[in-house]
Amino acid sequence: MRIADNIFLFDGIGNSSNLYLMDNQLLVDTGLGISFERIIGEIKEAGLQPEKIKIILNTHCHYDHIGGNNLFKKLTNADVYALEIDAENIETGKNTFYELFGNNFISSKIDRKLKDGEIIKTKNYSFRVIHTPGHTKGSICLYEPKKKILISGDTLFSDSVGRADLTGGNETELINSLKKLQKLDTELLLPGHGNFKKGGVNGLIKNMINFLEEQ
Ligand SMILES: [Zn+2]
Repeated sequence: MRIADNIFLFDGIGNSSNLYLMDNQLLVDTGLGISFERIIGEIKEAGLQPEKIKIILNTHCHYDHIGGNNLFKKLTNADVYALEIDAENIETGKNTFYELFGNNFISSKIDRKLKDGEIIKTKNYSFRVIHTPGHTKGSICLYEPKKKILISGDTLFSDSVGRADLTGGNETELINSLKKLQKLDTELLLPGHGNFKKGGVNGLIKNMINFLEEQ
């Protein structure tokens, strides 16, 4: 589904994460891998060329976001990016919860270990990496300041927040991360699961912080 200029969402079915493709260059998250063939078909139907993807980026180490890494890597030979803190988990399987999703763990090598504040450029976009721990230690969001787009992984959804009770999660860190996101001017929210959200993002973040702080 086309969401904005050169930004496409490919739906994660079942437990799989959403996949976002920017400028046919940057793929954010790869789902569980079980719907790989379907997603490749959808990418082609959208008039795009999946083999031309240059970067595969994981928002965090959970298996529902990284399970398709190897399949996409084989097709594209793209570099795989993740924040350095979650990279080791993605390579070893630790804290990825692959068994919860009924999968065998398939390791994927992280080619580039990102740091907070790095910029990832595609043809039309320039995304800043924002370290947002809370759901996992190495969770990241991507922010595009000119187009006011926030890709939020499992830190923030269009009507809720990610769980902080799994290993590596921390509710205080999640609240602090949401406060970081609150300072951004966001018009389009692209979360790791569920619907995207146009407008009202700062109000949503405010409500989520209040909700967590009242618990
Ligand atoms: Zn997750």
